[in-house]
Amino acid sequence: MTTPQLPALLHPLVRAFLDDRRSVADAVNRYGTPCHLLFPQVYLDNLRRLRSTAARHHLETRIFYAHKVNHSRALLATAHHAGIGVDTSSAPELAAARGVGVSADDIEVTGPKGRRLLREIAGTGVTVNVDNPWELGELIALADPAAPIQVLLRLSGPAGGSSVSRFGIAPADVPAQLRFLAQHRDRITLRGFAFHLDSGEIADRVRAVGDTLAWIESAYAVGLAPTIVDIGGGLRQVFTADADRFDHYTLALRESLAGRGEPMSWGTNTFGYHRAGNRVSGIPVFHKYANTTTATTMLDELLSAPLPAHGGRPLAQVLRDNLLQLWCEPGKALLDHAGITVAAVEFVKSAADGTILVTVDISRDTVTPADQEMMLDPILLPGPGASRGDGPVGVYICGHLCLERDLISNHKVWLPYLPEPGDLLVFANTGAYHMDLSAARAAMHPLPPKLAVDYHDDRFRICPDAEYTTPTGRS
Ligand SMILES: *Cc1c(COP(=O)(O)O)cnc(C)c1O
Repeated sequence: MTTPQLPALLHPLVRAFLDDRRSVADAVNRYGTPCHLLFPQVYLDNLRRLRSTAARHHLETRIFYAHKVNHSRALLATAHHAGIGVDTSSAPELAAARGVGVSADDIEVTGPKGRRLLREIAGTGVTVNVDNPWELGELIALADPAAPIQVLLRLSGPAGGSSVSRFGIAPADVPAQLRFLAQHRDRITLRGFAFHLDSGEIADRVRAVGDTLAWIESAYAVGLAPTIVDIGGGLRQVFTADADRFDHYTLALRESLAGRGEPMSWGTNTFGYHRAGNRVSGIPVFHKYANTTTATTMLDELLSAPLPAHGGRPLAQVLRDNLLQLWCEPGKALLDHAGITVAAVEFVKSAADGTILVTVDISRDTVTPADQEMMLDPILLPGPGASRGDGPVGVYICGHLCLERDLISNHKVWLPYLPEPGDLLVFANTGAYHMDLSAARAAMHPLPPKLAVDYHDDRFRICPDAEYTTPTGRS
Protein backbone atom coordinates (compact mmCIF):
# COMPACT_ATOMS: atom_id res chain seq x y z
CA MET A 1 0.00 0.00 0.00
CA THR A 2 1.31 3.46 -0.81
CA THR A 3 1.69 5.95 2.01
CA PRO A 4 -0.71 8.91 2.27
CA GLN A 5 0.72 11.84 0.34
CA LEU A 6 0.05 15.49 -0.32
CA PRO A 7 1.92 16.23 -3.53
CA ALA A 8 2.40 19.91 -4.29
CA LEU A 9 1.53 21.36 -7.66
CA LEU A 10 4.58 23.11 -9.11
CA HIS A 11 4.88 25.54 -12.00
CA PRO A 12 7.09 23.99 -14.71
CA LEU A 13 9.67 26.75 -14.19
CA VAL A 14 9.89 26.02 -10.46
CA ARG A 15 10.06 22.29 -11.19
CA ALA A 16 12.92 22.91 -13.62
CA PHE A 17 14.72 25.04 -11.04
CA LEU A 18 14.45 22.33 -8.38
CA ASP A 19 15.56 19.68 -10.87
CA ASP A 20 18.61 21.75 -11.72
CA ARG A 21 20.70 20.86 -8.69
CA ARG A 22 23.42 23.33 -9.63
CA SER A 23 21.02 26.28 -9.42
CA VAL A 24 19.64 25.19 -6.06
CA ALA A 25 23.18 24.66 -4.76
CA ASP A 26 24.15 28.06 -6.10
CA ALA A 27 21.31 29.76 -4.21
CA VAL A 28 22.10 27.92 -1.00
CA ASN A 29 25.86 28.44 -1.24
CA ARG A 30 25.55 32.14 -1.92
CA TYR A 31 22.69 33.06 0.39
CA GLY A 32 22.46 30.18 2.85
CA THR A 33 19.36 28.60 4.30
CA PRO A 34 16.66 29.33 5.01
CA CYS A 35 15.67 31.50 2.06
CA HIS A 36 12.55 32.52 0.19
CA LEU A 37 12.68 32.38 -3.61
CA LEU A 38 10.36 34.35 -5.87
CA PHE A 39 9.79 33.75 -9.57
CA PRO A 40 8.65 36.95 -11.37
CA GLN A 41 8.17 34.96 -14.59
CA VAL A 42 5.57 32.77 -12.88
CA TYR A 43 3.85 35.92 -11.61
CA LEU A 44 3.74 37.20 -15.20
CA ASP A 45 2.31 33.90 -16.37
CA ASN A 46 -0.53 34.22 -13.84
CA LEU A 47 -1.13 37.79 -14.94
CA ARG A 48 -1.21 36.81 -18.61
CA ARG A 49 -3.89 34.21 -17.91
CA LEU A 50 -6.08 36.61 -15.95
CA ARG A 51 -5.73 39.24 -18.65
CA SER A 52 -6.64 36.87 -21.46
CA THR A 53 -9.68 35.67 -19.51
CA ALA A 54 -10.92 39.24 -19.14
CA ALA A 55 -10.09 39.95 -22.78
CA ARG A 56 -12.24 37.02 -23.95
CA HIS A 57 -15.21 38.82 -22.41
CA HIS A 58 -14.34 42.04 -24.28
CA LEU A 59 -14.51 43.95 -21.07
CA GLU A 60 -12.55 47.04 -20.19
CA THR A 61 -10.62 45.73 -17.19
CA ARG A 62 -7.99 47.12 -14.87
CA ILE A 63 -5.99 44.90 -12.57
CA PHE A 64 -4.50 46.18 -9.31
CA TYR A 65 -2.02 43.86 -7.64
CA ALA A 66 -2.89 43.57 -3.93
CA HIS A 67 0.55 44.30 -2.52
CA LYS A 68 -0.20 42.98 0.96
CA VAL A 69 0.28 39.33 -0.02
CA ASN A 70 4.05 39.75 -0.26
CA HIS A 71 6.56 42.51 0.52
CA SER A 72 8.64 41.59 -2.52
CA ARG A 73 10.01 44.57 -4.39
CA ALA A 74 10.82 42.38 -7.39
CA LEU A 75 7.17 41.40 -7.84
CA LEU A 76 6.00 44.96 -7.29
CA ALA A 77 8.39 46.16 -9.99
CA THR A 78 7.25 43.30 -12.22
CA ALA A 79 3.60 44.32 -11.76
CA HIS A 80 4.40 47.92 -12.64
CA HIS A 81 6.52 46.93 -15.61
CA ALA A 82 3.66 44.76 -16.90
CA GLY A 83 1.38 47.80 -16.82
CA ILE A 84 -0.99 46.92 -13.99
CA GLY A 85 -1.81 49.06 -10.97
CA VAL A 86 -1.18 48.40 -7.30
CA ASP A 87 -3.64 48.10 -4.44
CA THR A 88 -1.88 49.38 -1.33
CA SER A 89 -3.17 49.06 2.22
CA SER A 90 -0.65 51.00 4.32
CA ALA A 91 1.69 53.99 4.11
CA PRO A 92 4.80 51.78 3.63
CA GLU A 93 3.11 49.82 0.81
CA LEU A 94 2.16 53.11 -0.83
CA ALA A 95 5.77 54.30 -0.50
CA ALA A 96 7.04 51.01 -1.94
CA ALA A 97 4.74 51.38 -4.96
CA ARG A 98 5.88 54.96 -5.53
CA GLY A 99 9.45 53.73 -5.07
CA VAL A 100 9.29 51.45 -8.11
CA GLY A 101 7.73 54.22 -10.16
CA VAL A 102 3.99 53.51 -9.97
CA SER A 103 2.09 56.73 -10.70
CA ALA A 104 -0.85 57.95 -8.61
CA ASP A 105 -3.19 57.02 -11.46
CA ASP A 106 -2.26 53.39 -11.00
CA ILE A 107 -2.61 53.30 -7.22
CA GLU A 108 -5.55 52.36 -5.09
CA VAL A 109 -5.49 52.75 -1.31
CA THR A 110 -7.72 50.24 0.43
CA GLY A 111 -8.12 48.75 3.88
CA PRO A 112 -8.43 50.43 7.28
CA LYS A 113 -7.01 53.97 7.19
CA GLY A 114 -6.31 56.30 10.05
CA ARG A 115 -6.09 60.08 9.97
CA ARG A 116 -2.33 60.02 9.28
CA LEU A 117 -2.69 57.96 6.12
CA LEU A 118 -5.70 59.97 4.91
CA ARG A 119 -3.73 63.22 5.29
CA GLU A 120 -0.87 61.69 3.39
CA ILE A 121 -2.97 60.61 0.42
CA ALA A 122 -5.29 63.62 0.13
CA GLY A 123 -4.35 65.56 -2.99
CA THR A 124 -1.96 62.96 -4.37
CA GLY A 125 -4.35 61.69 -7.06
CA VAL A 126 -4.53 58.09 -5.86
CA THR A 127 -7.94 56.42 -5.82
CA VAL A 128 -9.19 55.89 -2.29
CA ASN A 129 -11.29 52.80 -1.67
CA VAL A 130 -13.41 54.24 1.16
CA ASP A 131 -14.11 51.87 4.03
CA ASN A 132 -16.57 53.84 6.16
CA PRO A 133 -18.56 57.08 6.62
CA TRP A 134 -15.99 58.55 9.02
CA GLU A 135 -13.31 58.17 6.37
CA LEU A 136 -15.44 59.85 3.72
CA GLY A 137 -16.11 62.78 6.09
CA GLU A 138 -12.38 63.16 6.73
CA LEU A 139 -11.58 63.08 3.01
CA ILE A 140 -14.18 65.71 2.21
CA ALA A 141 -12.70 67.96 4.90
CA LEU A 142 -9.19 67.42 3.51
CA ALA A 143 -10.08 67.81 -0.17
CA ASP A 144 -9.02 70.77 -2.23
CA PRO A 145 -11.55 71.70 -4.95
CA ALA A 146 -8.59 72.31 -7.27
CA ALA A 147 -7.73 68.60 -7.04
CA PRO A 148 -10.81 66.56 -6.15
CA ILE A 149 -10.19 63.28 -4.37
CA GLN A 150 -11.18 60.20 -6.35
CA VAL A 151 -13.00 57.53 -4.42
CA LEU A 152 -14.64 54.16 -4.67
CA LEU A 153 -17.19 53.27 -2.00
CA ARG A 154 -16.53 49.89 -0.51
CA LEU A 155 -19.73 48.01 0.16
CA SER A 156 -19.84 45.78 3.19
CA GLY A 157 -20.25 42.07 2.47
CA PRO A 158 -23.32 42.38 0.24
CA ALA A 159 -26.16 39.92 0.58
CA GLY A 160 -24.94 36.37 0.55
CA GLY A 161 -21.92 36.72 2.79
CA SER A 162 -22.63 34.27 5.59
CA SER A 163 -20.93 36.35 8.27
CA VAL A 164 -20.83 40.09 8.91
CA SER A 165 -17.66 41.73 7.59
CA ARG A 166 -15.68 44.32 9.52
CA PHE A 167 -14.99 46.10 6.24
CA GLY A 168 -17.00 48.41 4.06
CA ILE A 169 -20.09 50.57 4.40
CA ALA A 170 -23.26 48.90 5.68
CA PRO A 171 -26.10 48.93 3.10
CA ALA A 172 -28.28 51.03 5.43
CA ASP A 173 -25.60 53.76 5.42
CA VAL A 174 -25.01 53.93 1.67
CA PRO A 175 -27.90 56.27 0.68
CA ALA A 176 -26.73 58.97 3.13
CA GLN A 177 -23.17 58.65 1.78
CA LEU A 178 -24.43 59.10 -1.77
CA ARG A 179 -26.30 62.26 -0.80
CA PHE A 180 -23.19 63.50 0.99
CA LEU A 181 -21.08 62.80 -2.11
CA ALA A 182 -23.61 64.59 -4.31
CA GLN A 183 -23.41 67.66 -2.05
CA HIS A 184 -19.61 67.71 -2.22
CA ARG A 185 -19.03 66.67 -5.79
CA ASP A 186 -16.78 69.70 -6.31
CA ARG A 187 -14.26 68.19 -3.87
CA ILE A 188 -14.73 64.50 -4.27
CA THR A 189 -15.38 62.29 -7.28
CA LEU A 190 -17.23 59.02 -6.92
CA ARG A 191 -15.56 56.74 -9.46
CA GLY A 192 -17.48 53.61 -8.53
CA PHE A 193 -18.19 50.91 -5.98
CA ALA A 194 -16.03 48.14 -4.61
CA PHE A 195 -16.34 44.98 -2.61
CA HIS A 196 -13.92 42.28 -1.55
CA LEU A 197 -15.12 38.85 -0.47
CA ASP A 198 -13.12 36.05 1.08
CA SER A 199 -15.69 33.55 -0.15
CA GLY A 200 -14.75 31.15 -2.90
CA GLU A 201 -18.38 30.92 -4.02
CA ILE A 202 -19.10 32.43 -7.42
CA ALA A 203 -22.74 32.90 -6.41
CA ASP A 204 -21.72 35.28 -3.59
CA ARG A 205 -19.78 37.44 -6.05
CA VAL A 206 -22.57 37.41 -8.63
CA ARG A 207 -24.95 38.64 -5.94
CA ALA A 208 -22.43 41.27 -4.86
CA VAL A 209 -22.15 42.56 -8.44
CA GLY A 210 -25.95 42.62 -8.66
CA ASP A 211 -26.13 44.73 -5.50
CA THR A 212 -23.38 47.00 -6.80
CA LEU A 213 -25.28 47.62 -10.03
CA ALA A 214 -28.33 48.63 -8.00
CA TRP A 215 -26.20 51.12 -6.03
CA ILE A 216 -24.88 52.53 -9.29
CA GLU A 217 -28.49 53.24 -10.28
CA SER A 218 -29.01 54.98 -6.91
CA ALA A 219 -25.90 57.06 -7.52
CA TYR A 220 -27.18 58.10 -10.96
CA ALA A 221 -30.45 59.12 -9.30
CA VAL A 222 -28.66 61.70 -7.13
CA GLY A 223 -26.68 63.04 -10.08
CA LEU A 224 -23.43 61.09 -9.61
CA ALA A 225 -21.72 59.28 -12.48
CA PRO A 226 -19.79 56.24 -11.25
CA THR A 227 -18.20 54.07 -13.95
CA ILE A 228 -16.30 51.37 -12.05
CA VAL A 229 -17.28 48.04 -10.51
CA ASP A 230 -14.37 46.79 -8.40
CA ILE A 231 -14.75 43.11 -7.51
CA GLY A 232 -11.76 43.03 -5.13
CA GLY A 233 -9.59 39.93 -4.85
CA GLY A 234 -10.27 36.45 -3.54
CA LEU A 235 -9.50 34.51 -6.73
CA ARG A 236 -8.24 31.16 -5.54
CA GLN A 237 -4.95 29.30 -5.70
CA VAL A 238 -4.52 25.64 -6.54
CA PHE A 239 -2.01 23.96 -4.24
CA THR A 240 -2.51 20.27 -4.74
CA ALA A 241 -1.12 18.31 -7.68
CA ASP A 242 -3.52 15.44 -7.06
CA ALA A 243 -7.00 16.00 -5.65
CA ASP A 244 -7.65 12.27 -5.20
CA ARG A 245 -4.53 11.79 -3.14
CA PHE A 246 -5.39 14.87 -1.13
CA ASP A 247 -8.82 13.39 -0.37
CA HIS A 248 -7.24 10.07 0.45
CA TYR A 249 -4.87 11.76 2.90
CA THR A 250 -7.59 13.75 4.65
CA LEU A 251 -9.78 10.67 4.89
CA ALA A 252 -6.94 8.77 6.55
CA LEU A 253 -6.36 11.77 8.85
CA ARG A 254 -10.01 11.79 9.91
CA GLU A 255 -9.92 8.05 10.49
CA SER A 256 -6.85 8.48 12.69
CA LEU A 257 -8.56 11.29 14.65
CA ALA A 258 -11.45 8.88 15.19
CA GLY A 259 -8.96 6.43 16.67
CA ARG A 260 -8.63 4.11 13.68
CA GLY A 261 -5.38 3.29 11.95
CA GLU A 262 -2.00 4.87 12.40
CA PRO A 263 -1.76 8.16 14.39
CA MET A 264 -1.38 11.10 11.99
CA SER A 265 -1.57 14.17 14.22
CA TRP A 266 0.83 15.63 16.74
CA GLY A 267 -0.50 16.13 20.25
CA THR A 268 -4.13 17.13 20.52
CA ASN A 269 -4.40 18.82 17.12
CA THR A 270 -7.68 18.23 15.31
CA PHE A 271 -7.20 20.84 12.52
CA GLY A 272 -10.64 22.30 13.08
CA TYR A 273 -12.43 18.97 12.72
CA HIS A 274 -15.01 18.17 15.36
CA ARG A 275 -14.77 14.85 17.07
CA ALA A 276 -17.97 13.34 18.48
CA GLY A 277 -17.52 9.76 19.61
CA ASN A 278 -15.99 8.02 16.64
CA ARG A 279 -17.29 10.57 14.13
CA VAL A 280 -15.09 13.35 12.78
CA SER A 281 -16.75 16.15 10.81
CA GLY A 282 -16.56 19.84 9.96
CA ILE A 283 -14.44 22.08 7.77
CA PRO A 284 -10.73 21.82 8.53
CA VAL A 285 -8.46 24.87 8.87
CA PHE A 286 -6.58 23.76 5.78
CA HIS A 287 -9.52 23.61 3.37
CA LYS A 288 -7.85 26.02 0.93
CA TYR A 289 -5.39 23.25 0.03
CA ALA A 290 -8.27 21.15 -1.33
CA ASN A 291 -9.27 23.74 -3.92
CA THR A 292 -9.06 22.66 -7.55
CA THR A 293 -10.73 25.67 -9.22
CA THR A 294 -8.19 28.00 -10.79
CA ALA A 295 -8.34 31.78 -10.53
CA THR A 296 -9.03 32.09 -14.25
CA THR A 297 -11.90 29.62 -14.06
CA MET A 298 -13.39 31.63 -11.19
CA LEU A 299 -13.06 34.88 -13.12
CA ASP A 300 -14.47 33.29 -16.26
CA GLU A 301 -17.46 31.85 -14.38
CA LEU A 302 -18.12 35.19 -12.73
CA LEU A 303 -18.01 37.13 -15.99
CA SER A 304 -20.26 34.57 -17.72
CA ALA A 305 -22.79 34.32 -14.88
CA PRO A 306 -26.35 35.36 -15.82
CA LEU A 307 -27.70 38.31 -13.82
CA PRO A 308 -31.35 37.66 -12.89
CA ALA A 309 -32.20 41.35 -12.45
CA HIS A 310 -30.85 42.07 -15.96
CA GLY A 311 -32.87 39.64 -18.01
CA GLY A 312 -30.37 36.86 -17.37
CA ARG A 313 -27.71 38.56 -19.50
CA PRO A 314 -24.14 37.53 -18.68
CA LEU A 315 -22.43 39.75 -16.14
CA ALA A 316 -19.73 40.92 -18.57
CA GLN A 317 -22.36 41.94 -21.10
CA VAL A 318 -24.33 43.93 -18.51
CA LEU A 319 -21.16 45.82 -17.58
CA ARG A 320 -20.37 46.45 -21.26
CA ASP A 321 -23.91 47.58 -22.06
CA ASN A 322 -23.74 50.05 -19.18
CA LEU A 323 -20.28 51.30 -20.17
CA LEU A 324 -18.89 50.15 -16.85
CA GLN A 325 -15.26 49.28 -16.26
CA LEU A 326 -14.26 46.21 -14.27
CA TRP A 327 -11.54 46.59 -11.66
CA CYS A 328 -10.10 43.70 -9.72
CA GLU A 329 -7.47 43.40 -7.02
CA PRO A 330 -5.94 39.92 -7.16
CA GLY A 331 -3.30 39.13 -4.60
CA LYS A 332 -2.77 35.43 -4.06
CA ALA A 333 -3.89 34.56 -7.60
CA LEU A 334 -0.91 36.50 -9.00
CA LEU A 335 1.49 34.89 -6.52
CA ASP A 336 0.21 31.37 -7.14
CA HIS A 337 3.27 29.11 -7.50
CA ALA A 338 5.55 32.16 -7.71
CA GLY A 339 7.28 31.60 -4.37
CA ILE A 340 8.96 28.74 -2.51
CA THR A 341 10.83 28.51 0.78
CA VAL A 342 14.00 26.48 1.19
CA ALA A 343 14.96 25.20 4.63
CA ALA A 344 17.72 22.85 5.76
CA VAL A 345 17.39 19.85 8.03
CA GLU A 346 19.21 20.49 11.32
CA PHE A 347 18.77 17.07 12.93
CA VAL A 348 16.47 14.06 13.27
CA LYS A 349 15.42 12.48 16.56
CA SER A 350 12.86 10.20 18.16
CA ALA A 351 10.35 11.47 20.72
CA ALA A 352 9.61 9.47 23.88
CA ASP A 353 6.87 7.54 22.10
CA GLY A 354 9.08 6.71 19.14
CA THR A 355 7.64 9.39 16.85
CA ILE A 356 10.27 10.62 14.38
CA LEU A 357 10.89 14.36 14.46
CA VAL A 358 12.76 16.24 11.72
CA THR A 359 13.92 19.69 12.84
CA VAL A 360 14.58 22.36 10.21
CA ASP A 361 16.06 25.88 10.35
CA ILE A 362 12.78 27.83 10.05
CA SER A 363 9.81 28.33 12.35
CA ARG A 364 6.17 27.57 11.60
CA ASP A 365 5.55 31.28 11.12
CA THR A 366 8.03 31.41 8.24
CA VAL A 367 5.82 29.35 5.95
CA THR A 368 2.27 29.47 7.27
CA PRO A 369 0.08 31.46 9.64
CA ALA A 370 0.00 29.70 13.04
CA ASP A 371 -3.72 28.94 12.89
CA GLN A 372 -3.46 27.15 9.54
CA GLU A 373 -1.73 23.98 8.50
CA MET A 374 0.31 23.58 5.36
CA MET A 375 -1.04 20.52 3.60
CA LEU A 376 1.68 20.04 1.02
CA ASP A 377 4.52 17.57 1.35
CA PRO A 378 7.81 19.43 1.38
CA ILE A 379 10.18 18.36 -1.37
CA LEU A 380 13.26 16.63 0.00
CA LEU A 381 16.52 17.38 -1.79
CA PRO A 382 19.52 15.39 -0.59
CA GLY A 383 22.59 17.25 0.62
CA PRO A 384 25.96 16.82 -1.11
CA GLY A 385 27.36 13.32 -1.34
CA ALA A 386 24.45 11.68 0.36
CA SER A 387 23.20 8.27 -0.62
CA ARG A 388 19.62 7.77 0.43
CA GLY A 389 16.77 5.39 -0.06
CA ASP A 390 15.38 3.40 2.85
CA GLY A 391 11.83 3.95 1.67
CA PRO A 392 9.10 6.26 2.94
CA VAL A 393 9.14 7.32 6.54
CA GLY A 394 6.35 9.12 8.45
CA VAL A 395 7.61 12.14 10.40
CA TYR A 396 6.58 15.43 11.94
CA ILE A 397 8.54 18.49 10.90
CA CYS A 398 9.65 20.74 13.75
CA GLY A 399 10.67 24.39 13.62
CA HIS A 400 13.81 25.80 15.21
CA LEU A 401 12.14 27.78 17.99
CA CYS A 402 12.43 26.68 21.58
CA LEU A 403 8.63 26.41 21.89
CA GLU A 404 6.55 23.24 22.14
CA ARG A 405 4.12 24.56 19.57
CA ASP A 406 6.70 25.32 16.88
CA LEU A 407 5.95 22.47 14.51
CA ILE A 408 5.83 23.13 10.77
CA SER A 409 3.60 20.10 10.33
CA ASN A 410 1.20 18.99 13.03
CA HIS A 411 0.11 16.27 10.61
CA LYS A 412 2.29 13.32 9.71
CA VAL A 413 4.36 13.79 6.56
CA TRP A 414 5.72 10.82 4.65
CA LEU A 415 9.13 11.66 3.23
CA PRO A 416 10.67 9.36 0.62
CA TYR A 417 13.52 8.48 3.02
CA LEU A 418 14.83 9.52 6.41
CA PRO A 419 16.63 12.86 5.94
CA GLU A 420 19.99 13.79 7.40
CA PRO A 421 21.43 17.11 8.59
CA GLY A 422 22.14 19.33 5.60
CA ASP A 423 19.39 17.89 3.38
CA LEU A 424 17.03 20.54 2.07
CA LEU A 425 13.27 20.70 2.47
CA VAL A 426 11.51 22.89 -0.05
CA PHE A 427 8.09 24.27 0.87
CA ALA A 428 6.03 24.93 -2.25
CA ASN A 429 3.77 27.85 -3.06
CA THR A 430 4.61 30.00 -0.04
CA GLY A 431 4.51 33.32 -1.94
CA ALA A 432 1.05 34.53 -0.91
CA TYR A 433 0.40 35.33 2.74
CA HIS A 434 2.85 32.66 3.93
CA MET A 435 6.28 34.22 3.80
CA ASP A 436 5.44 37.69 5.07
CA LEU A 437 2.10 37.91 6.74
CA SER A 438 3.32 36.42 9.96
CA ALA A 439 7.07 36.25 9.51
CA ALA A 440 8.44 35.97 13.01
CA ARG A 441 11.75 37.05 14.36
CA ALA A 442 11.28 35.07 17.53
CA ALA A 443 14.39 33.93 19.43
CA MET A 444 16.29 36.63 17.51
CA HIS A 445 16.50 34.51 14.39
CA PRO A 446 16.94 36.83 11.39
CA LEU A 447 14.30 36.85 8.65
CA PRO A 448 15.25 34.56 5.75
CA PRO A 449 16.61 36.50 2.77
CA LYS A 450 14.27 36.92 -0.14
CA LEU A 451 15.70 36.15 -3.57
CA ALA A 452 14.38 36.61 -7.09
CA VAL A 453 14.93 33.89 -9.69
CA ASP A 454 14.72 34.46 -13.44
CA TYR A 455 15.34 32.05 -16.25
CA HIS A 456 16.96 33.42 -19.37
CA ASP A 457 19.72 32.51 -21.81
CA ASP A 458 19.38 28.88 -20.78
CA ARG A 459 20.08 29.37 -17.14
CA PHE A 460 18.61 30.46 -13.84
CA ARG A 461 19.83 33.72 -12.39
CA ILE A 462 19.39 34.51 -8.72
CA CYS A 463 19.70 37.86 -7.00
CA PRO A 464 18.46 39.51 -3.80
CA ASP A 465 14.84 40.55 -4.21
CA ALA A 466 15.67 44.20 -3.54
CA GLU A 467 18.24 44.26 -6.37
CA TYR A 468 16.05 42.66 -9.01
CA THR A 469 15.66 44.57 -12.24
CA THR A 470 12.87 43.79 -14.69
CA PRO A 471 14.10 42.30 -17.96
CA THR A 472 14.56 45.53 -19.93
CA GLY A 473 16.52 46.98 -17.06
CA ARG A 474 13.79 49.27 -15.87
CA SER A 475 12.85 48.39 -12.31
C1 LIG B 1 -6.43 41.36 0.67
C2 LIG B 1 -7.20 42.12 -0.31
C3 LIG B 1 -7.15 41.78 -1.66
C4 LIG B 1 -6.39 40.59 -2.18
O1 LIG B 1 -7.03 39.42 -1.83
P1 LIG B 1 -6.59 38.01 -2.44
O2 LIG B 1 -7.54 37.09 -1.77
O3 LIG B 1 -5.17 37.78 -2.06
O4 LIG B 1 -6.77 38.07 -3.90
C5 LIG B 1 -7.86 42.56 -2.56
N1 LIG B 1 -8.59 43.62 -2.15
C6 LIG B 1 -8.67 43.97 -0.84
C7 LIG B 1 -9.46 45.14 -0.46
C8 LIG B 1 -7.99 43.23 0.12
O5 LIG B 1 -8.09 43.56 1.39
